Amino acid sequence: MSDTIVIRGATVVDATTTGTRADVAVRDGRVVEVGDSLSPAGARVLDAEGCIVAPGLVDIQVHFREPGREDSETIETGSRAAALGGFTAVVCMPNTNPPLDDAAVVQAVIGRGREVGLCDVRVAGCITKGRAGKELAPLGELYDLGVRIFTDDGDCVADAAIMRRAFEYATALPGAVIAQHAEDPSLVRGGHMHEGDWSARLGIPGRPAEAEIVIVARDLALARRTGGRYHVLHLSTAGAADLVRCAKVEGLRVTAECTPQHLALTDASCAGYDPVFKMNPPLRGETDRDGVRAALLDGTIDAIATDHAPHAPETKAVPFEEAPPGMLGVETAFAVSHDELVTSGELTMQGLLARLSWQPAAIAGLEACHGRPVAAGEPANLVVIDPDATWTVDAMSVASRSRNTPWAGRTLRGRVRHTLLQGNPTVIDQEACR
Ligand SMILES: [Zn+2]
Repeated sequence: MSDTIVIRGATVVDATTTGTRADVAVRDGRVVEVGDSLSPAGARVLDAEGCIVAPGLVDIQVHFREPGREDSETIETGSRAAALGGFTAVVCMPNTNPPLDDAAVVQAVIGRGREVGLCDVRVAGCITKGRAGKELAPLGELYDLGVRIFTDDGDCVADAAIMRRAFEYATALPGAVIAQHAEDPSLVRGGHMHEGDWSARLGIPGRPAEAEIVIVARDLALARRTGGRYHVLHLSTAGAADLVRCAKVEGLRVTAECTPQHLALTDASCAGYDPVFKMNPPLRGETDRDGVRAALLDGTIDAIATDHAPHAPETKAVPFEEAPPGMLGVETAFAVSHDELVTSGELTMQGLLARLSWQPAAIAGLEACHGRPVAAGEPANLVVIDPDATWTVDAMSVASRSRNTPWAGRTLRGRVRHTLLQGNPTVIDQEACR
């Protein structure tokens, strides 16, 4: 029996309410009471005056680099960064070394996540063995370990026949989804940024929007043929958003996510040749950026996911064309999205939390324990956010083991104050508890 914690004075925002002021009492991993002026004997009080209390955030695309690149991030540092960002669950992508195509490696990552205990660490499994794109990984075996998202992320599954087989196989596994890093390798080979006016001006070989569009079009055709469930990772183009919009109208089982950086930044950020702005798929031009924003607002894109991609400082301290792609994301995702969409008046707080909590939870099959309403009896995976707090991102003080944040020096509005995982505080007053 653990002590009772009372979150005092916050406004509840979840899938069922857009703003009820209430205290929230938590004990033994669950919310036990939501009401006025709760003061159970001996309770520990977390002040939340002026804040929002909501279900914990869920990031369905992170790279915690363990096993293989623990110099860039570990499950421990990544989990701590995620908790500071308000996340109670993450899904780790399988492009580790060795990759997550095997039961033993998947079990090791899940076990390490539990041991660290700062975030509910789930994993995506590979679609193909060794992420080599040739032969299906043992999807059923990984599914039995709790894996629901299958992807070769980092790389696109380029072979249409393999993709068709993956869809066919996954249709027999309830809740399983085939997720694609949609960039046709033959169109992006040798490219380092979005192909457009800026790439031409900077003399950097490009990665065209069509690389994403042709893969999403092909995969939607295969999803239609097989009845399979499809998820587009880090969707970045207006063209692919249009395809997903039509597919949803048609009734195909398709979902999509976008990153905060694709909502907020364009390829103009690459003008200084700073490798921190390099990622795959690349930051696009304004038309694509606006198309992605519109798709997120109209429900075509279901979720915001960070693609948190740490790289040790020395690996990014090289010329743009030699640097690995990827940016940090979990510590800033809420504030950046909040600033871009809520402060600007385009989205409500509830709308933003839908895209950062319960909708991604549903895609990843986590809806029984994350993104739940803040109500008695529900699992106490919660975040307390001060929507008015402003803060300036300091790359040197992030909890991640890496420093490659594109937001360094940016002043953002909206900050995570407390995070609770299964009733235990992981973050109190912006400090990690472990
Ligand atoms: Zn990717």
